[in-house]
Amino acid sequence: MKKFKRVLIANRGEIAVRIARTATRLGLEPIIIYSDADRYSLAVREAKEAYRLGGNRVTESYIDADRVLAIARESKADAIHPGYGLLSENSAFARRVIKEGFVWIGPSPDAMDAVASKSKAKELAIKAGIPVSPGFQGKQDPSLLAKEALKIGFPLLIKAAAGGGGRGIRKVESESQLQSMLEAARSEAVNSFGDGELILEKYIEEANHVEVQIFGDESGTVVHMGERDCSVQRRHQKIIEEAPSSALTPELREKITSAAVSLARAAKYTNAGTVEFLVTPKKEFYFLEMNTRLQVEHPVTELVTGLDLVEWQFRIADGETVPLEQLKISFKGHSIQARLYAEDPDKSYQPQTGRIEHFEFPNEVRVDHFLTPSAVITSFYDAMLAKIIVHAKDRGTAIKYLSKALDRTLVVPLTTNRQLLTEVLLDQRFQAGTFYTRTLDQSPLKSTTDISEAFETAALLFYSRSREAIEPHLIGWSTRPAAIFVTVTDGKMKRTLTFEES
Ligand code: ADP
Ligand code: ADP
Ligand code: MG
Repeated sequence: MKKFKRVLIANRGEIAVRIARTATRLGLEPIIIYSDADRYSLAVREAKEAYRLGGNRVTESYIDADRVLAIARESKADAIHPGYGLLSENSAFARRVIKEGFVWIGPSPDAMDAVASKSKAKELAIKAGIPVSPGFQGKQDPSLLAKEALKIGFPLLIKAAAGGGGRGIRKVESESQLQSMLEAARSEAVNSFGDGELILEKYIEEANHVEVQIFGDESGTVVHMGERDCSVQRRHQKIIEEAPSSALTPELREKITSAAVSLARAAKYTNAGTVEFLVTPKKEFYFLEMNTRLQVEHPVTELVTGLDLVEWQFRIADGETVPLEQLKISFKGHSIQARLYAEDPDKSYQPQTGRIEHFEFPNEVRVDHFLTPSAVITSFYDAMLAKIIVHAKDRGTAIKYLSKALDRTLVVPLTTNRQLLTEVLLDQRFQAGTFYTRTLDQSPLKSTTDISEAFETAALLFYSRSREAIEPHLIGWSTRPAAIFVTVTDGKMKRTLTFEES
């Protein structure tokens, strides 16, 4: 890169690891910052240099802009990559970064401001002739909001205009709930997002979440990298994502990707962004919002395009034009990502915390994670442990690969959503492409294995202790409800050791 060599990564977890790897490959020097809870993170090991932020809560660590910038100066960083979440969508922070002479690896602050708020983005989309989810955005007068809500009808969603990550969204079932929910939404929006603005949207009962990855540059060029389907969600948060989307026909794909590109042009957008839509079974589509950052699910786009999105972010921030013209961006096969969370799906997705005694991920597929043998999962950050990502020639094969990969994934002794992810992959509706954004919340799937935590721990500890002895003969292992299979061979014969719960 011409403008920078030392890149401070103002983030944590798997995304810090992910960004550090591309930085190193490009000859850059990744600098990591870490809170006390994160001192054993893999990110610290991937860094050229790592600086202690201190603190644990994000407010006293990763989103303390003064502290982050002090370390940027101290470490003689030239550039700052914000990753996703945390400070990534904060245009005031981006402005400070630039003013203090660092290169900001992200969209220009003006472009961020043009689309950051869900209400402004919808207005911009309407002006650009893009269909938006029916609803209301505008003056915040309480009686006007109530009147508009009645016009829209129930159920409807109240959203914080500044919200994100599935937070700040409330579903209102009937008029009787409206007033109290508007008030609760308002105070939550002020407290969580520092901005009380609310928007209203008709609740679309059946829809796929389809989003388009775009990139823009200073010269005004905008290209897209096709779509991702993120319809498998729990509580408005994505857990399985894929590319391409089975909800699109070639004509619809053309329309939706063009809409995304024209919105980005209207916003004079630079660097990476994602334009989100809902697509109904009747093939109507509605713009929802734009995310001005790298997306958690960007790997599926990388696997179908063969491109490194973080590399593109660096190159564009360095002043290059978009590295490939639209026609040179091509798509191959099918990719699916599953987000492994330390949470208990049977207990309202309650996050799980504690020390990880043992973890194993499959070798054959891409796994983005940040675990080390000393990893402790705390309640300070979100509970995502890893992303397991497969690529295959078609969707059916990709589903098979991912199921297999999940069978070979183990984090002991924390309860995870692994079994739920497997159940979704096996679900008829998922296989048919009719798994909508609310399907999981509406009809919860059986998610616990019969396998008890204590048993799983015991079997795996036994296995990891005897592993050295078994290793030369080891072919593989997999977990099933109530059993763990370890397959060994002496070169002639194959034998499977079964640890069965009794
Ligand atoms: P994606 O939109 O890429 O699927 P998520 O919606 O899960 O990703 O959000 C990415 C990360 O950023 C998560 O850690 C989420 O908690 C966080 N996040 C996103 N937007 C916000 C926001 N406005 N406020 C707080 N956290 C956010
Ligand atoms: P966030 O900033 O939290 O990602 P979004 O506006 O993207 O907020 O909404 C999050 C998710 O909620 C969407 O991916 C979609 O599944 C669901 N959702 C949002 N708006 C609607 C709507 N009008 N009708 C039905 N589902 C919706
Ligand atoms: Mg969204």
